[in-house]
Order: sequence, then C-alpha cells, then structure tokens
Amino acid sequence: MKYECHGHIMADGVSYAEAAARHSRAPDETAVRAALCALKEHGVGFFRDGGDKFGVSLFAKTLAPEYGVDYRTPGFIIHRAGYYGELYGRAYRDIREARELIFEAKREKADFIKIAVSGMLDFASGGLVMGEAIGKDEIRELTKAARGEGLCVMAHCNGAENVKNALEAGVTSLEHGFLTDREGADMLAGTGAVWVPTIAPVANLLKPGASGNFSASVLREILSGHQETLAYARGRGVLIASGSDCGARGVAHGTGTDDEIRYLARLGIDPSPANARVSELFRRP
Ligand SMILES: [Zn+2]
Repeated sequence: MKYECHGHIMADGVSYAEAAARHSRAPDETAVRAALCALKEHGVGFFRDGGDKFGVSLFAKTLAPEYGVDYRTPGFIIHRAGYYGELYGRAYRDIREARELIFEAKREKADFIKIAVSGMLDFASGGLVMGEAIGKDEIRELTKAARGEGLCVMAHCNGAENVKNALEAGVTSLEHGFLTDREGADMLAGTGAVWVPTIAPVANLLKPGASGNFSASVLREILSGHQETLAYARGRGVLIASGSDCGARGVAHGTGTDDEIRYLARLGIDPSPANARVSELFRRP
C-alpha cells in the first residue's frame, strides 16, 4: 500500500481556478470520485489532505472507505488574514479568531490542524518565499491551541528561518520546507518532527514542456538545493515522508504519489518509517 502524506483532493493538477469553480457551491461528487478512483488504481491506501476551503476534503473523507483509502484531513488551512493560505483556507486576524477556527475545524471532524507559517516559493522571481510569515510566538500559540484540542499540527512552511521558528514552536510536521538549511535539518532530527518535502511540484515542472512561464534554471536551482539538504537530513536520521502535493499544477492524483516516491528513492530515502508516523499521529483523538 502506498502513502500520500500531502495532497489536495479538491484540486486537479491542472487548473486551480477551474477546480475552484467546480466546487465553489458544493463539493462536486463526480470530481471527488474520479480522484479517489485514481488513488485506488495507483494503490494509494492512505491519503492525508492538505485542506481546502470548499469542504471538499471533508466530503472526500466520507466516500474514501468505498475506495479503500484511509483518509485524513484538516478540513481547511488556518492562516493569518492577508498572508498565504487564502486559496485553501480560512483567515484569522488575531489569536482569538484563530482559536475559533481550530474549534470549528474540530467540530467539522478535522483529524488535525493545518497552519500556514509562510508563503510559497515564487518561481518567477528567483525562488524567494512570497509574502510575509508569522513568527515563533504566533506559531507556538496556534500549536498550543491545537494540542489543547488533542490535535496535531501540519505546518505549511518555506524559508530557513521560518522552518526553524516552526520547529522551535513544536509543529508535528513540516510541509514543503524549501530553503531549509543544515541547521534546520539538525533541528528536524532533534525534534523528531516529520518532514514532507513535496519534491514533485518542482521536479514535475522540469519535465519536457512543463515549465510554462517559469525559468527552468530557477527551478533546477531550487530543486538541487532541496535535494542536497534532503540527502543531509537522511544522513541525520530525519523522518522524511512521501507527500507529492498532488492537485498542485503538474501533479495528478495517483501518478503524483508514484512520482514523489521515485524522487525520494533517487536520494536513497525510504519514507516508510515517516509515513507510519504520520498515520499514527494525524488522526482524530
Ligand atoms: Zn499543499
């Protein structure tokens, strides 16, 4: 059985806008069943969703047993208003509102909490982290509130300093983690947090004809830095799980999971222990 530790069933690997239009009024059952079918066909028996704002992942969870998929979801991403997360989440303006969202996620039967620490990488501007990031104290408050509800924290995060802040604040898993440096990798080893490096969304854009408007040299540079740190992290015994970010552009459901497993294998990484840890921790209490 294969593990997909980071996907978005709501998105289709082609166009976020079209997927959003499809689900904006209510989750589109046909699309959800097609995605679940692709998972089943590729032998994916575990799927941890990264959340969406249309309730699609919560709906998918109710259908998943029919496809033999152990489905986990945070419902939606919790993010600071004006910061990254708007496409997949709900915003808070202060910690009180953030706590409300955590309660709400739990009420809606989320299995864990997903927070946005920083933005995505901007492939167009040389691979810098987009937008602002929340600080250590805020991450700690969110983590504490989630823990208080018995829920683990999946943290979307890029950038060396942001990664260290998230790990110091005690998040359970680090998602993406592009631009992580060796010190960050040492912290991953020390804290026992799981790293889900989602190589596929960058590596797949380097497939022939896939890079679109993005510069292949920028993508290659981001990817090689990521691979270098991952190889170092493997040597330090960091728990590295397989999550492809399927649903993201160029990463289809089913094949994306296979892509990610292959990219990790090329670095000599066996994600099994980390995948098992994800499935053990990221469940409703
Ligand atoms: Zn994601």
